[in-house]
Amino acid sequence: MWQAEVRVDLDAIRANVAHLVAGTSAEVMAVVKSDGYGHGMVASARAALDGGATWLGVATLTEALTLREAGLTAPLLSWLIAPGLPLHDAVAGDIDLSVATLGLLDEVATAAERAERVARVHLKIDTGMSRGGATPAEWPVLLEAAAKAQSDGLIDVVGVWSHLGCADEPGHPSVDAQLTAFRDGLEVAARFGVRPRYRHIANSAALLTRPDAHFDLVRPGLAIYGLSPMGGRADGLRPAMTARARVMLAKRVPAGSGVSYGHTYVTPVESTIAVIPIGYADGVPRHASNGGPVQIGGRVRPIAGRVCMDQFMVDCGDDPIQAGDLVTLFGPGDAGEPTVDDWAAASGTINYEIVARFGSARVARVFD
Ligand code: PLP
Repeated sequence: MWQAEVRVDLDAIRANVAHLVAGTSAEVMAVVKSDGYGHGMVASARAALDGGATWLGVATLTEALTLREAGLTAPLLSWLIAPGLPLHDAVAGDIDLSVATLGLLDEVATAAERAERVARVHLKIDTGMSRGGATPAEWPVLLEAAAKAQSDGLIDVVGVWSHLGCADEPGHPSVDAQLTAFRDGLEVAARFGVRPRYRHIANSAALLTRPDAHFDLVRPGLAIYGLSPMGGRADGLRPAMTARARVMLAKRVPAGSGVSYGHTYVTPVESTIAVIPIGYADGVPRHASNGGPVQIGGRVRPIAGRVCMDQFMVDCGDDPIQAGDLVTLFGPGDAGEPTVDDWAAASGTINYEIVARFGSARVARVFD
């Protein structure tokens, strides 16, 4: 018997990836960082590869090394590398590294020399997000140094890449501006003799809406888990995560009873309060207080009062709710249950954050 669980439908991930693969001539890098957006990194990676992805993408080196330790040998890019990290294992493990500064290029070249291995590098250009990547002004300097390290046999520039800031707002002028800057950056790279096998810039939103941004490789994260960056249900995608709990306690309380900390909800009439044993330490956003929707006893009802660390309450009126009854917080929505998007709306956040939060350690994760 479980009291709260996150179910992950690995078939859905496989099918979502197969659907995305069918919609592009580019290769697909499945982004499985942050524990596979809460769905489980290694299991999600395996499902994505089964579905036809040929690459894996993660933020941190620790994530990349974990995938290698799990026996995954697919090409694998790690893009969030702080200065001074030990890079030997990454180079030795054929982990592709994103490089955007001369300092990191130097560290990677040194690690390659020590590991007696050619380091696989993706040079990153900042095309207009002001996050990672060399600015267009720094780009030629980086290219010159990378071209030298490549001719010295220390690195192989496998990719040139960038990331889009507003692709989830189709029509946003910055998308075209970033794509133009990316093409310009590729032209400059060619002048330095850097002609990578993989040019990539598309996240889920660009994969779904901008075929002209696919280049050689696309990097969907959210979409492989069946969610759309634009919100709502996307054609051909099935949400992979369902979050459920069981009522821990149900009790009748009189009208005028204050519920949870601060008494921000007071029962208007005598009613049944259900106590659900999952709280903000398990991923339920505190911002979902007095609003986060759950399906209980066949109806969708809002959380009553504040979300606590380990539990929250629902006012079930006169419904015959009992301890042990099933409560669905969210799922694909096919059985009338709330969706991840409903939770995002109730919590003032995005669907990405909801699934990443619910995949936290304390809730049992079950793979279907
Ligand atoms: N590429 C990079 C560099 C990212 O940081 C992310 C996620 O934020 C992705 C791709 C995948 O983005 P999305 O989940 O919107 O598809």
